[in-house]
Amino acid sequence: MIIESSEVILSVRDLTAEVDGNQILKGLNLEVKAGEIHAIMGPNGSGKSTFSKVLAGHPSYDVTGGEILFQGKNLLDLEPEYRARSGVFLAFQYPLEIPGVSNLDFLRVAYNSRRKHQGLEELDAFDFDELVRDRWKLSK
Ligand code: ADP
Ligand code: MG
Repeated sequence: MIIESSEVILSVRDLTAEVDGNQILKGLNLEVKAGEIHAIMGPNGSGKSTFSKVLAGHPSYDVTGGEILFQGKNLLDLEPEYRARSGVFLAFQYPLEIPGVSNLDFLRVAYNSRRKHQGLEELDAFDFDELVRDRWKLSK
């Protein structure tokens, strides 16, 4: 898929949300275009994590108003699993160590579930290893 650089990928309008009956998000607006990187900053308790969880579809957080469009679809209508496969998911800040599951295996399974969703062929362990090594070089 070719994405025009001016294309809006994510559009959040007047979003309000609550958890346990407490309103946390009070009319949030955000527009993200293709290729843009946004850093959301704010004091502790200002709602950054709440916003992330609402985007990912955490069941404890209720959206009470506004809308979120992701690639033209109403994100709030989609199951968290579908959102994740489409590219909206939370990464781990402090990943748990699972005995027997290497980081590389974990990343490959996650990467392949997105590829499958996009109708692309999955990468085997060798090809994925190569991909990671190439990307690694780019980050240095
Ligand atoms: P940030 O990530 O910006 O530090 P949070 O989204 O974690 O902020 O928290 C925003 C507000 O929501 C805080 O006042 C916090 O106490 C409240 N909050 C977060 N989670 C819950 C919860 N499960 N129940 C009640 N209040 C919550
Ligand atoms: Mg937080």
